[in-house]
Amino acid sequence: MKPAAFDLVAVDSVEAALAALSDAGGDGKIIAGGQSLVAMMNFRMVRPSVLVDINRIAALAILEERPDHIRVGALTRHRTLERSPLIGRHFPVLSRAMEHVAHLAIRNRGTIGGSLSHADPAAELPMMALLLDATLTVAAPAGLRTVAAADFFLGSLTADLGETDLVIAVDFPKLPAGTGWDFQEVARRSGDFALAALAATLTVEGGVIAEARIAMMGIGETAVRAADAEALLAGRTLDDALVAEVVAAVRDGVEPNSDLHASGDYRRHLIGVLAGRALGNAWARAQGAAQGGEP
Ligand code: FAD
Repeated sequence: MKPAAFDLVAVDSVEAALAALSDAGGDGKIIAGGQSLVAMMNFRMVRPSVLVDINRIAALAILEERPDHIRVGALTRHRTLERSPLIGRHFPVLSRAMEHVAHLAIRNRGTIGGSLSHADPAAELPMMALLLDATLTVAAPAGLRTVAAADFFLGSLTADLGETDLVIAVDFPKLPAGTGWDFQEVARRSGDFALAALAATLTVEGGVIAEARIAMMGIGETAVRAADAEALLAGRTLDDALVAEVVAAVRDGVEPNSDLHASGDYRRHLIGVLAGRALGNAWARAQGAAQGGEP
């Protein structure tokens, strides 16, 4: 199918984007990479009368190291996150996750701002933003506001964004030394949306886990952190018994729906398997990091 007719407005500043969205009176949409929006327009799931093209706003394409965080502009492409040495050094788990997003052609166009705003429950970036305690900066006619990733995803394809809001940047706080990580995903074919995925970081201090983070997706309306499972890991060393305890907590904490792709029971089983694998690998990487090796 083809989209309904629309006007295209290309802007070169955040202020111009906000003005164009306001002028559209609630019937405008931002277009970034277009990799989700255009498909939805073709299926007539959305019919904006105005598209506001933000691709010329250079200030949104930044990727900068700050003292305690990395600032990623909303227009940063998936492929840039995957290949960036800066991201690879600070967040190798994010680089790895990006390899699983769709296919190369889509990763070359898709943006972090678009993916987070689209809030697909089976997308990698919302899960990674939760795992890494990211904060989004959102521009609106009333000014700038910041939103923790934990508060941003309200439901399937629903984020905490108004009709005239524009995500401009995402801040990822640096991880402490001694942090191991892992990313696990199962999809039917390479490049497909995931059936389920899970990512973990373990920060080890003095031989015990000082902080554990586990984020997962494919098991509900939004990606989520496995708070109960994380709490079990704090202050302990990882062994088979603890992994079994955590896997059980992960499974107990989810209520996945059955759909065309998999039953709820299969997804619950799968997320536990992914948790067990991720914890073992994150623990091994944390040992390497503690000995001065690559994270
Ligand atoms: P767009 O399509 O331009 O916009 C998406 C939505 O976000 C629109 O509502 C738009 O108005 C809004 N928006 C865009 N930028 C902003 C902003 N800065 N502020 C506020 N709102 C904004 N994704 C995955 O994560 N994993 C996959 O496995 C995967 N597989 C895919 C397979 C196919 C065949 C296709 C076509 C896409 C797939 N995607 C997948 C989606 C892809 O990652 C998209 O690029 C991404 O979801 C949206 O980013 P975009 O920049 O293209 O956004």
